[in-house]
Amino acid sequence: MTAIGEGIFESSESYRTALQQLDAVAKRLNLDPGIHERMRYPRRALVVSVPTLMDDGRTEVFLGYRVHHCTVPGPTKGGIRYHPGVTLSEVSALAMLMTWKCALMQLPYGGAKGGVACQPGHMSPRELEHMTRRYTVEVMLLIGPDLDIPAPDMGTDEQTMAWIMDTYAMTQGRTVPGVVTGKPILVGGSAGRRDATGRGLVYVLGQAVRDIGLELRGARVAIQGFGNVGSVTARLLWREGTAVIGITDAQGGVYNPNGLDIRALSQHVKEAGTVAGFADTEPISNADLLALPCDVLVPAALGGQITEKNADHVRARIVAEGANGPTTPEADQILAARGIPLIPDILANAGGVIVSYFEWVQGLQYHFWRESEINSRLQEVMIRAFNQVNAMAKREHVDLRTAALMVGIRRVADAFQLRGLYP
Ligand code: NAD
Repeated sequence: MTAIGEGIFESSESYRTALQQLDAVAKRLNLDPGIHERMRYPRRALVVSVPTLMDDGRTEVFLGYRVHHCTVPGPTKGGIRYHPGVTLSEVSALAMLMTWKCALMQLPYGGAKGGVACQPGHMSPRELEHMTRRYTVEVMLLIGPDLDIPAPDMGTDEQTMAWIMDTYAMTQGRTVPGVVTGKPILVGGSAGRRDATGRGLVYVLGQAVRDIGLELRGARVAIQGFGNVGSVTARLLWREGTAVIGITDAQGGVYNPNGLDIRALSQHVKEAGTVAGFADTEPISNADLLALPCDVLVPAALGGQITEKNADHVRARIVAEGANGPTTPEADQILAARGIPLIPDILANAGGVIVSYFEWVQGLQYHFWRESEINSRLQEVMIRAFNQVNAMAKREHVDLRTAALMVGIRRVADAFQLRGLYP
């Protein structure tokens, strides 16, 4: 299949992986070729330059992106990532994944993603604020409460969302809480949003481990990444009575075979900015963490971490993808052949977009729910999706990723069919 301009989006491994997955599932589902072709490309993509006044008086220009993969199910939704590796191609791949994820969770959204290629860890809060406000204005054409609703992703947080909301509000002359989710509670955020991705992962993991005869209590867990997703997952699993034996972040890693005290570790990270150097631990590299003998492995940092080179070394009994795209298709096959089940990103880490949806609904109505209500609704959506995926996997004799994609892509294809092709 070819399309005019083909090649613009395919330059990254992530996009090639996303296409490979879509093409394989389209074949399995016997999708209409026209609909399949429409799904292979973003609906629209915007590239912007983001000139930013730095603290030393220089002006630095960053490249930013916002991509809408699919607008058929409703407005679009997806995070904004600040990371040096951000490219149009990677953002487009992540936008496509968001489409399948929202469909799998039965949320009325198409997928989107955005980002700025920058090093947020090396920028001051003032520089980050300048860059965020200018980026917001540059992508203003594409965002809005009934058009496209961004949220945090790697390198962005509640503060970033507050700046985006404020910048948008300034141009509208009124506060518009529905324009972003993942905001601080004081300016229209939702109870439970901060913990939502990790919490959702733990709900699904709790279901999945039963299938392989394991209990979360007493299980041994290794986690890559201690940001929003990794740290919440670690805390909730620790509270469930699991032993979190190893954690890495961008600056190092820690290992203790008896389990880490996650509350004390979080305090250490607040002071030191990294897990490295935490008391009573041995240092551990990413490579060794991924190969730790354990029950559960949670990659919750970057994409492309479990590959054909190291999938043979994984010694976990189950893998739950906190990050987006941490496992390559080759590694998927190796893990499946070795009998290691993997809960795919679009299922395992969907808690964030689910509670983002709750935040959006609450913001549109100016009516806010209690945290217990949020958590029980989150649990209901996650467990329903898990059961649908698990049933599909058993019925079709496929792994959980293929099953999750089959459920999500089928729904999107049916929506395309219902709306037809304009004009
Ligand atoms: P974050 O910026 O809060 O944290 C990222 C973590 O990864 C940090 O601890 C960082 O030190 C670590 N890291 C970076 N490079 C690393 C490396 N080379 N080795 C080990 N650790 C490294 O980001 P986040 O929001 O927790 O997102 C993490 C992943 O989860 C991303 O793939 C993101 O797309 C995905 N995700 C996030 C959410 C959410 O709600 N935040 C929702 C769904 C998916």
